[in-house]
Amino acid sequence: MPNAAQIIIAIDGPSGTGKSTTAKLIAKELGYTYLDTGAMYRAVAWVAESMGTWSVGHNISFNEKNQILINGANRESEIRDPKISAVVSKYSALPEVREFLTKKQREIGSMQPCVLDGRDIGTVVFPNAKHKFFLTADYKTRAARRLLELQNSGKAEGETLESVEKNLRERDAADTNRSIAPLAKAKDAIEIDTSHLTIQQQVQKILQSVGEVARCEVSEHNPKG
Ligand code: C5P
Repeated sequence: MPNAAQIIIAIDGPSGTGKSTTAKLIAKELGYTYLDTGAMYRAVAWVAESMGTWSVGHNISFNEKNQILINGANRESEIRDPKISAVVSKYSALPEVREFLTKKQREIGSMQPCVLDGRDIGTVVFPNAKHKFFLTADYKTRAARRLLELQNSGKAEGETLESVEKNLRERDAADTNRSIAPLAKAKDAIEIDTSHLTIQQQVQKILQSVGEVARCEVSEHNPKG
């Protein structure tokens, strides 16, 4: 039996590819913990912007609804603001921030079976994860999805498809070109273009693939059974 530390599903890719919705549903279906690592980087950006400085003394955690708590206060809404999206990549490139959050993510992932979504889960945080996926989608689709999310949460004021796409492109460039743990597909990750897929289809593809790997492992260990 693999121990909990080995039960990791890594879902990486840029924003607007459906990572977090897919990851949440997969975690629910399998009874695993879901960890939104982007929320943790957003929390750091929020602290730095609202308090003028960041230090590792701040407490970042999640409540039972997977909403982010910063020093015990629910900041789920604040971290999703476009103002934070505009600056988060600056903070996520800092070595001390990455070291602090990577350690936290490894701790959480080693305690229970986990689905993590992010940029560097399959390459850096859990390079030995058995199940790795890299989601992509074209810019128009990603911008339309992000704008809808902002509209649904009342944060779309002053935002247009163009402004959202500009932020996505800027973040992709910053996240891909940073020197530490850049946004990248792990060599052994399965790439899924979600441009024309519904969330249910994305979930099914991943569950099917996870199930197939699990079945192969069982038959390798028990060839006759
Ligand atoms: O996933 P989300 O769009 O909320 O991520 C916000 C930002 O956090 C990304 O643009 C990226 O700069 C950073 N991030 C990261 N590594 C991760 C997850 C997110 O650098 N594993």
